[in-house]
Amino acid sequence: RGTPALRVTERSDVVDWWPELGPAAEKYTRGVVGLATGSAAYPGAAVLSVGGALAGPTGLVRYAGSARADVLLQHPSVIASGRVADAGRVQAWVCGSGLGTGEEAAAELRAVLAAPVPVVLDADALTLLVDGSMADRLRQRDAPIVVTPHDREFARLCGEEPGADRAAAALRLAAWMNAVVLLKGDRTIVATPDGRAYVNPTGTPALATGGTGDVLAGLLGSLLAAGLAPERAAAAAAYLHGLAGREAARSGPVTAPDVAAALRPVVAGLLHGR
Ligand code: AMP
Ligand code: MG
Repeated sequence: RGTPALRVTERSDVVDWWPELGPAAEKYTRGVVGLATGSAAYPGAAVLSVGGALAGPTGLVRYAGSARADVLLQHPSVIASGRVADAGRVQAWVCGSGLGTGEEAAAELRAVLAAPVPVVLDADALTLLVDGSMADRLRQRDAPIVVTPHDREFARLCGEEPGADRAAAALRLAAWMNAVVLLKGDRTIVATPDGRAYVNPTGTPALATGGTGDVLAGLLGSLLAAGLAPERAAAAAAYLHGLAGREAARSGPVTAPDVAAALRPVVAGLLHGR
């Protein structure tokens, strides 16, 4: 039976998928993304995920969580609240980066899963999913889910490491969870529940540094909120994130804020002359 065709994401795919910004654009119709990320212990994850989201095509970024003072200081254009329930309407949620795994975090994840919009689940949200009641809530959802595990998070979800055939592993998890899986690594895989897979060609080991995954999750959420299909949003986010890592590496050792800052010129370069 062999692994189905692995498609390499191409620059022209990302250009084609990126939404047009028409002359009559309006911030709400461009999409509103919400982030339930960060915590008192990890405010940086909130700032980084918001930084990723601000590089995407959405017109508005909402933050819901306990790192709002830090987020607003770094990103004054964000609308911030303390809880998901108070955030107002969004078209996609990102949940988990730096969120913590306590009862408060679990309550915020439940609020995100109850919203009838696409969600990105990253980091601590994936740890919380190992709880059976969370897994039930996941299966009851109609709106798309994208999970973004690295290898250790994958192992926690699946009970085993991805192994040598990473695409096959990602496809198995996607089918089992009925979710799009973005399996992070040097050649990030995006797998769909119906058996399609993309491999990302732009990765760089310069991204192997703390916090870069939070930036990726935010960008992915923005693309979902703008209306991209989940596997396209995931493949495009991985592609641009890799380019931003390469760009950032040109001026020295990369930190996650450098990747967030490099994303916007990378997107501009991609769309130039479209
Ligand atoms: P996280 O571990 O959640 O912070 O995510 C790390 C990010 O860096 C993911 O987007 C990975 O795909 C990327 N990354 C980590 N190591 C490498 C590598 N050796 N080559 C390319 N990308 C990498
Ligand atoms: Mg991470």
